Amino acid sequence: MEGDKPLTVTLMCTVVAVDHTQLCYRVCSRCEKTLPQTHENNTSSSSSVCKYCNFNNAFNPLSSNSKRLFRILMSIASDTKVFVVVMFDRAARVLFGCSADEFFDFAKIHPFAAENAAKALEGEMLRVTLSEPKNGNAQHQRVVSVVPLRSGFRPVIEILRELYA
Ligand SMILES: [Zn+2]
Repeated sequence: MEGDKPLTVTLMCTVVAVDHTQLCYRVCSRCEKTLPQTHENNTSSSSSVCKYCNFNNAFNPLSSNSKRLFRILMSIASDTKVFVVVMFDRAARVLFGCSADEFFDFAKIHPFAAENAAKALEGEMLRVTLSEPKNGNAQHQRVVSVVPLRSGFRPVIEILRELYA
């Protein structure tokens, strides 16, 4: 079993840039498998049934059968190099201070929220724990955990709410 433990490394880094064009992805709200990306303007998703668990929320149409999770590509600078890492929901929530759904709803009515979120994170000092991709095809190291190091750090959603107030 020893070989199953992913190799991790913890390091200090600075956020160089965040890819704001795709901050989250849709999953089935029951089994959390990735759903095919539909056009975001098509909010009448009642017809989309998860093909994995066959979950169709017809009995409760008010609650959606999909939800969003963060998946963020960002480039970070350690003391030796600049490289791209991928950050999934649990780690991203630490920096955003909200769920991907909350952020998405905020961004829907606040133009450039994603761009400004990326800007807010640029330059932040972080302590990150990275793991090598489990799947040999994945190209980026994955952020397992993240701790903001700046004493005055505030989550992205707080900065945005102030910015758009
Ligand atoms: Zn499902």
